[in-house]
Amino acid sequence: MAGSSTNTGFHGIAGQETASRMLAAAVTRDRASHAYLFIGPEGTGKLASARELAAALCCEAGGCGRCGSCLKIRHGTHPDVGMISPVGAFITVEQIREVNRSLNLFPGESRARVFIVTDATAFNAESANAFLKTLEEPPGFVKFIIMADRGDRVLPTIVSRCQIIRFDPVKPAVIAERLEKEFDVSPTMAQTYAAISGGNLTLAERFCRDQDLRNRRQRYIEIGMELTRGKGEPQALAAGLLAVAEKAGEEAADGREDPPEGFTDAGARQRQRDAHRLATAARKRELDQALLVLQSWFRDMMVVASGAPEVITNRDYELELEQEALQSRSGDYRRAAEAVNTARRKLGYNIDLELALLALLNQLQEVM
Ligand SMILES: [Zn+2]
Repeated sequence: MAGSSTNTGFHGIAGQETASRMLAAAVTRDRASHAYLFIGPEGTGKLASARELAAALCCEAGGCGRCGSCLKIRHGTHPDVGMISPVGAFITVEQIREVNRSLNLFPGESRARVFIVTDATAFNAESANAFLKTLEEPPGFVKFIIMADRGDRVLPTIVSRCQIIRFDPVKPAVIAERLEKEFDVSPTMAQTYAAISGGNLTLAERFCRDQDLRNRRQRYIEIGMELTRGKGEPQALAAGLLAVAEKAGEEAADGREDPPEGFTDAGARQRQRDAHRLATAARKRELDQALLVLQSWFRDMMVVASGAPEVITNRDYELELEQEALQSRSGDYRRAAEAVNTARRKLGYNIDLELALLALLNQLQEVM
């Protein structure tokens, strides 16, 4: 299929061939659905694809990438393309009412009016209800592009009204190639960041840009090393990990607890709940990141100990890994990696983070 090789229409995002093909076909045949649901993990190009689809729907030339319409969409300033993102923790009913009020207005500058919902898991009961009515029969020129990291967290009544497009984790080779092209990184570091990002292109790019993120990864690897050597006291290591996660949580909630003047009590309580939710999510995200690094460390130890160093993830630590494998008392790396993986899955539930971490670190110390 050569639909994406023309200079108009949907061009596609690196590493998302299936999604790109489906969208290109819909756009070139002018048979775009009134609502798309993009489902896929963070950092797989959903937002970039949504912008490109919006450009293809709005632009007179089907998404040329050069005209005023296409450029405005790229910069997020197009009057016919609305972005609906959570305010605090939720998409509110006021936001949806505003969409409804403008629903029947003809597009001001283009062929279509597009609303991009950046997180379909953030509706609350009230806003979901209002949005369902919006989705039912919008005018023909209105299109919705709705995004979600996980399909099972989206209301089935929303899912059933959309055409679903799945976004897969991006392949490490595709990520590495992109990093080398766009950042000043060596091939080794590009491969390393690609491998440790688990198919999340956005995260891989952040590794190239964010020194603080790289420092945290280094700290997590050092914890892996200490455990491999049978050193490190579980309680202290858990406390160290929690402190980093706590800081991430505080940064996420920063300034949101204190309501601006004139807020009602209910409004203030809502803001506090939002801040709490955001902080918890940020804490869990940071711990997940820590556990992902630990897991990759133990998997690498297993791989090096079994004499196949060419498939290690943390390529920049190849020498250290080999040294550790020579010196350490050959712990059960497979069980260690599995234990970390199990703990990561539990983070998704409502658990006591401190207890869960302590249990994991005790278990790791036992198998090393
Ligand atoms: Zn254009």
